[in-house]
Parts: sequence; C-alpha cells; structure tokens
Amino acid sequence: MKPRPKILDRIIAIIDQCQTFCVVNHVRPDGDGMGSQLGLTMALQNEGKTVTCWNADEMPSKLAFLDPQHSVRPPRPNQAFDCVIALDVASLERLGATEPHIANRTHFINIDHHPSNTRFADLNWVVPRSPSTGELVYRLLRAANWPISPAIADCLFTAVSTDTGSFQYPSTRPSTYVIAGDLVKRGANLANICHEVYQSYPLSRVRLMQHILNHFKLVADDRIAYYWLKPNDFTRTGANASDSEGLIDHVRAIEPVVVACQFEEVAPQVIRISLRSKSEDVDVGQVALQFNGGGHQAAAGARIEGNPLSVQRRVLLAIKKALRSK
Ligand code: 5GP
Ligand code: MN
Repeated sequence: MKPRPKILDRIIAIIDQCQTFCVVNHVRPDGDGMGSQLGLTMALQNEGKTVTCWNADEMPSKLAFLDPQHSVRPPRPNQAFDCVIALDVASLERLGATEPHIANRTHFINIDHHPSNTRFADLNWVVPRSPSTGELVYRLLRAANWPISPAIADCLFTAVSTDTGSFQYPSTRPSTYVIAGDLVKRGANLANICHEVYQSYPLSRVRLMQHILNHFKLVADDRIAYYWLKPNDFTRTGANASDSEGLIDHVRAIEPVVVACQFEEVAPQVIRISLRSKSEDVDVGQVALQFNGGGHQAAAGARIEGNPLSVQRRVLLAIKKALRSK
C-alpha cells in the first residue's frame, strides 16, 4: 500500500469533529454512487454520527438490496448539516435537484475519481486513476480504522464491481482485486450481489435491449455504433431510465466497434448522450467535454440541447475526429 495522502487525514479530522452529516451522490445514481454513499452512511452511523443519506433521483430498484434499513430519506427543508459529503460527483451540476437541499452546511467534502472533477467543495479528494469511488471510500474507512461490516462490504464490493465492468475495464488495477478480496473476506455476499446486480434483469430491460439490437446503426467503417432511445421506446417496453443503464456495453462489445453512443431524448430538444470507448487511444471523456459533459476516457456522457438530428450529426462528427486523431 502507498503512503496515505495528507488530504485523507484532513478528511478524517473534519469528520471526527462533526456530528450531523448529509451524504449524497449524483443524478441517475449508479452502483458506484449508491454503493459508496450507503457504505459510508453505515460506517458513519456505526461511529455514532447522525446521517441523512439522500439523492433527489431515486435509487435503481436492482440496488435496493444494499439498503435493507431504508436509510435513504429526504432532509427537512433547509436542514443544517455540520458536514456534507459528495461521492462520485464530478461537478455541482451533477448533484441536480439535490444541490439546494445541502446548502446549509459548515463543511463540504468531495470524494471522487472523475478526471473532469471541478473541485467544487472545501476539501477535495479526487483520484482520477482510481477505478471507482468505492475504492476511495474503502481507503477512507481503513485509514480511519472504522469497522467494515458485511453490509458495508456488500455496498463497497458493488461499487468496485460495477464501475470496473466486473473487473474488466483497463482501469482495474492489482489493488482493485486486493480490495475486492478483502471485502469478500469481511463478509461481502458475492453470490447475492452478482444475483441482484447482474442476474435479475426485469423483462422491460430485455425488451429495451431487443429494440437496441434491432435498431443500432454502424458508421465509420463499423467503428462507431449508435442508437436512439425515444420516450415511446420506454412506454412501449415498460422500461424506466435505470433499465437502460449498461445496455450500451452490449453494443460496445461488437468486434469492429471502437466507440458506442447512446442518444436518449429525455425531453423535447434535450438529448442525453452516453459514450463508451474500447480503445485506450480514443478518449470519449474529451468528446463529452466538447458538449459540456464529462466522464472518463472509456465512459462519458453529456446533456445537449437542440434538434435531435443536428445533435446526432455534431456528436458523430466529434467521435469521428477522435477516431482519426488516434
Ligand atoms: P453514463 O453514460 O453511464 O450515464 O455516464 C458515463 C460516465 O460519464 C459516468 O462516469 C458519468 O459520471 C459521466 N457523465 C455522464 N453524463 C454526464 C454529464 O452530463 N456531465 C458530466 N460531467 N459527466 C457525465
Ligand atoms: Mn464512479
């Protein structure tokens, strides 16, 4: 293990001084965001702290097993917190409708692994080479000597596993396996996590997948694959927003494809793009930045306003440029 960064000691010292906390993650919370948030919430509660754990966007139902105590609940209007901790949040905008509810605070801590992190808090522990925020929460708990219960281990294992694509993304490091192994040793229920997260997709999600496989398009010598999700595709299949998470990976996995792009019309003239790259030489984080979004080299996204076809044309052009410059 590397020497522990000074910022970690400062974070632990602040947490020690504080009693009331609000722990938040990003809009459309995912496995890393929820696992980090619930794991840290439980650890703080075990230390006798009063913790509000909340996001304005609902937790995906497949992650509900991580919260058997139903710890996720909204704060009171204008509730005051000694300390707010944002996890896996790259910028203030990524807090969405949660942000106004955490304004009444003394300390603000930001723990994240996105290279595009804007360091928006008072204390920012941002480690872009960390494959997940869950790994950082694990390091925090170990450094502070707070016990990692089986329930906390479940949360952190889910965070580490989902943000590494089940230990497959190139961001996965030897220490990732060491941490995952330690979490299993401390009681993470591997069989249950894999069943809940990877082996129990609702039929609505499979129907959405069917739509994608029937409609995806290939351009740039089959190196770019893209598809659209329109409001009607969700209505027809009965899928909700969280059902679409991860579907893009199946399109990315097609052999000649280097970059996969999902266009989702979230409101009239508002398009959410998700980008995935399979080549370390093609940085989709840079592509997303051109549209005021963000993310990592291999996975990124943005919200873009405009006419759907013109957004599609601009995004595909930017991806083609990124492919040419590799
Ligand atoms: P996804 O495609 O799964 O929604 O997001 C992939 C990655 O890009 C995630 O790491 C996420 O944090 C980041 N990301 C997605 N959408 C946005 C966005 O609108 N702004 C920023 N800054 N990052 C985004
Ligand atoms: Mn993450």
